[in-house]
Amino acid sequence: MNAHQKIAFSCSPTSKPVGADARADLLKDPGFGRVFTDHMVTIRWTKDRGWHDAQVRAREPISLDPAAAVLHYGQEIFEGLKAYTRADGSIALFRPEQNARRFRASAARLAMPELPESVFLQAVDELVKIDSAWIPGDEGSLYLRPFMFATEAFLGVRPSYEYLFVLIASSVGAYFKGGAKAVTVWLSDRYTRAAEGGTGAVKCGGNYAASLLAQAEAIEHGCDQVVFLDAAEHRWIEELGGMNVFFVFDDGSLTTPPLSGTILPGITRDSIITLARGEGRTVREARYSIEQWRADAASGKLREAFACGTAAVVSAIGRIKSANGDIVIGDGDGGPITAALKAKLVGIQRGDVADAEGWVRKIA
Ligand SMILES: *Cc1c(COP(=O)(O)O)cnc(C)c1O
Repeated sequence: MNAHQKIAFSCSPTSKPVGADARADLLKDPGFGRVFTDHMVTIRWTKDRGWHDAQVRAREPISLDPAAAVLHYGQEIFEGLKAYTRADGSIALFRPEQNARRFRASAARLAMPELPESVFLQAVDELVKIDSAWIPGDEGSLYLRPFMFATEAFLGVRPSYEYLFVLIASSVGAYFKGGAKAVTVWLSDRYTRAAEGGTGAVKCGGNYAASLLAQAEAIEHGCDQVVFLDAAEHRWIEELGGMNVFFVFDDGSLTTPPLSGTILPGITRDSIITLARGEGRTVREARYSIEQWRADAASGKLREAFACGTAAVVSAIGRIKSANGDIVIGDGDGGPITAALKAKLVGIQRGDVADAEGWVRKIA
């Protein structure tokens, strides 16, 4: 199957949709990742037949053989993207072809079959259309979660011969409670997220599984997220558990860690680089050490820091906590360049700012 091929989706709408009143209640304060829509998309892959059996159907539990390979060896990948209602009432996605491409790259790294990008986009369109009533108003959006896992019942260790692709959707509000305020991050000196040659650059559940103990440690210390250092020298800033990171300096320039193979190539990261350079700012993709972070925060050279990703968009980092003491960035409450870049990105997504790069894809 080539990258532009389409497949036929069968559509059997649910016989038990959530009623309009109950849905309106759920959408009032959906939080993040708790409220799910009526439908899902599933597509099967087998070694013999390739991709087949694409369905739009009622969202319901999936039944799996207890020997399904994913339950034992963790062969699973995912993506995350959002559908927004725009100022003009249309529904749009932000750079979804980038998610489709990254999903293929993740599949390749985990020795899984690559879903053609056109089919990924078709699945997204189908689900957003059938569940469009679930897109919250105001700041909210419909968070789309495509994922794929190994279903073959086999305990031998080799890539599975059977997979299920699933797309679900969740109505979401702000990722961090309290919305705009700066987050505090915990510097993990004990755990690392990814090493060279590993899976740090792909979106797989295993990376998250390995980060949860550090995340729990962060929460214990009153922090929102973990910031990870590199695995080799425990010195260079990599990223947060699920977000890339940027540093903003007194001359208006920015630094973000380079895509060295151990960090996730975020689509938000790429978009921020493009927007900042478009404003004439210098953006370095360069290594930045924790010692430098400490020194620059103390001297005032570092004015702002922020994390970015689809779920939370852009979040100011106000403070780092670590076993060696705290670092406060600026006044600990975010800064103007972070706020302006966030406003520009959200503005493009919502249709309030011109989409000069052609990033927005409207749903027909
Ligand atoms: C998904 C993800 C990001 C952010 O990527 P976006 O494409 O901007 O959403 C950053 N880091 C990790 C580890 C991720 O899984």
